Amino acid sequence: MDTQTKGQFYRGRFAPSPSGPLHFGSLVSALASYLDARANKGEWLVRIEDIDPPREVPGSDKRILDSLLAHGMQWDGDILYQSSRTDAYEAALHELSKNELIFFCSCTNKQLKEYRLKHPKNESMLASGVYPGICREQKRYKDQCSQRLKINEQIFLFHDAVYGLVSQNLSDEVGDFVLKRRDGLYAYQLAVVVDDIHQGINNIVRGTDLLDSTPRQLYLYQCLNAQAPNYKHLPLALLSDGKKLSKQTGAPALNNMEAPENIFAALRFLGQKPPLELQGESVNNIISWGITHWDSHKICPQDIVI
Ligand code: GLU
Repeated sequence: MDTQTKGQFYRGRFAPSPSGPLHFGSLVSALASYLDARANKGEWLVRIEDIDPPREVPGSDKRILDSLLAHGMQWDGDILYQSSRTDAYEAALHELSKNELIFFCSCTNKQLKEYRLKHPKNESMLASGVYPGICREQKRYKDQCSQRLKINEQIFLFHDAVYGLVSQNLSDEVGDFVLKRRDGLYAYQLAVVVDDIHQGINNIVRGTDLLDSTPRQLYLYQCLNAQAPNYKHLPLALLSDGKKLSKQTGAPALNNMEAPENIFAALRFLGQKPPLELQGESVNNIISWGITHWDSHKICPQDIVI
């Protein structure tokens, strides 16, 4: 059951990181979140996730926004930039710390490696990057610390509208995870949840590369006493070598002049079966068809080589 059927107003979003222009993979996420929102008569917000300056490409926020408009997707309200949200992230950390849910961690990667060598019994657990809890009981702030959320939960279960029941053993597979880094930058996991709560987002549609972040985020919703959204994760567009199409694997920027073709291809990718007669129509006509005929049950939970 989605939020609409529970009688709540639908609010969705697209939340790109400005680390490069839109490519076909990110177009699929933008389009699916847009169509899901519009088909549910809801709002669709855009948030620029610019919390990691070293990974940003100057000007890509503007390029992404231009591309969205060229592809017929107009957002509601103002764009929220995460770089303006430091106070909110600090307030959330403060609340978590008041409830003794986080701790300061002074471990460096080098120290964690050394610990692993000295404690071979824990090796299998530590090999997956699970934090061994060295600083867990540390109460006071020390310089050059990260802040981690304590994980005591065992199995975390949630229902994804495309992938069905998803489970993750948070303590064994993830462990105490970082919310604020040693270098002072906020972790994606914290920022995304704080902002989705702040913006009243109750439906999240995004790529399946974030499926395994979802239990961490659901746990944060719990810790912050907020209601969790509904989730729809989307299959990824893969290159022929099986790698995800991404900025890192050199995905080409979308050509805005080919917006109708791009949207048509993205609809097909999403299993929507647009009729061939739609080819050659304007981008707005193709998007309108997409809204009228949107059926998220047709999305196949399997990555696709494009
Ligand atoms: N900013 C993330 C990205 O560009 C997406 C975050 C999300 O949708 O939760 O991959």
